[in-house]
Amino acid sequence: MPRPISASISVPALRHNLSVVRRHLDQAAQLAGGEAASIWAVIKANAYGHGIERAVSGFSAAQGLAMLDLDEAVRCREAGWGGPILLLEGFFHPADLEIVDRYHLTVTVHDDAQFDMIEAAHLSRRLNIQLKLNSGMNRLGYAPATYAAAHARAEQLQQRGVVGSLTKMTHFATADGPQGIAQAMDIFTRATEGLAGASSVCNSAATLRYPEISVSRDGAPQWVRPGVCLYGATPFSDVAASSYGLRPAMTLSSEIIGVQSVPAGGSVGYGAAFRADRRMRVGVVACGYADGYPRHAPTGTPVTVAGVATRLVGRVSMDMITVDLDPVPDAGIGASVVLWGEGGPSVDEVAQTAGTLGYELMCALAPRVRVQALS
Ligand SMILES: *Cc1c(COP(=O)(O)O)cnc(C)c1O
Repeated sequence: MPRPISASISVPALRHNLSVVRRHLDQAAQLAGGEAASIWAVIKANAYGHGIERAVSGFSAAQGLAMLDLDEAVRCREAGWGGPILLLEGFFHPADLEIVDRYHLTVTVHDDAQFDMIEAAHLSRRLNIQLKLNSGMNRLGYAPATYAAAHARAEQLQQRGVVGSLTKMTHFATADGPQGIAQAMDIFTRATEGLAGASSVCNSAATLRYPEISVSRDGAPQWVRPGVCLYGATPFSDVAASSYGLRPAMTLSSEIIGVQSVPAGGSVGYGAAFRADRRMRVGVVACGYADGYPRHAPTGTPVTVAGVATRLVGRVSMDMITVDLDPVPDAGIGASVVLWGEGGPSVDEVAQTAGTLGYELMCALAPRVRVQALS
């Protein structure tokens, strides 16, 4: 028997979460009397740890799939995805364009160096591009003052038959927080005013919180790019994914593999970081940071044992964690443990306690953890 830790990935939950976002966008469009946005389902980083092929299956109703890695894009084609594929960082080297061309990928263009590579390439068909504006995040994208010139260069390439569709794109730095998107949206609107093409601006936070900005009112299509919410996790620190009706797609579970009766004053784990203030039963769980559990999760981090909510005690080690069994007196070796997901705490609760994000925990699921797909 393998070590008793596994992750289950629910393809129906992926499908459900996509339909939640779909309805959210449709309602916004109905309210505003415009056209609802199309969805790029973001599946970068191995679909946030859920597996590319499972994501292709779960998001088959999306209008497009978006990611960073060329090999993930190729895997989507090999898994039978014939729709649009967007490379969110574009391409990096001239040779990438051969694969972009062969697999008919849409690319983000954020710098003139990429236009130079496009002009030097021998493409067999028109290249669809999303031209990225830096609206204040100062990561990738053209500065507002240079955007119109870049757009003109793309239109010239369109006229020469090199570029196909041209979409105006930006990415928000503060859609999840109190600052919101007003300032970035203002920069985007002014920099792209009068320029032809569809728009692509919203991540999960903006899609959920500001769906009205994704409604098309002038006939130019709109795209949104939700990621984390499609996996049933939240982009917000103050709103749970469940409040939107989203369901966790990843459940990390394991079992109790040892039990200790710790006397009052006894310590647990490395560094003797936890001391029992009374006699207590401590369960040892087959799950550690080498499985992707966050090493910085402190005593008190929620965990569910045999269906009962309890807490982590002591330090997380490479292969094991220790949990308080006092709330579950009947739990012994073999008792089920849910670290996060269905039947346990949300990945966001665990992440927040550990000082990180659900995003990071899902992406960090270790290759040594067996994965079962629920279809
Ligand atoms: C990752 C990413 C997204 C999705 O972000 P979420 O917060 O997971 O919704 C959207 N757009 C770009 C450019 C990204 O890199």
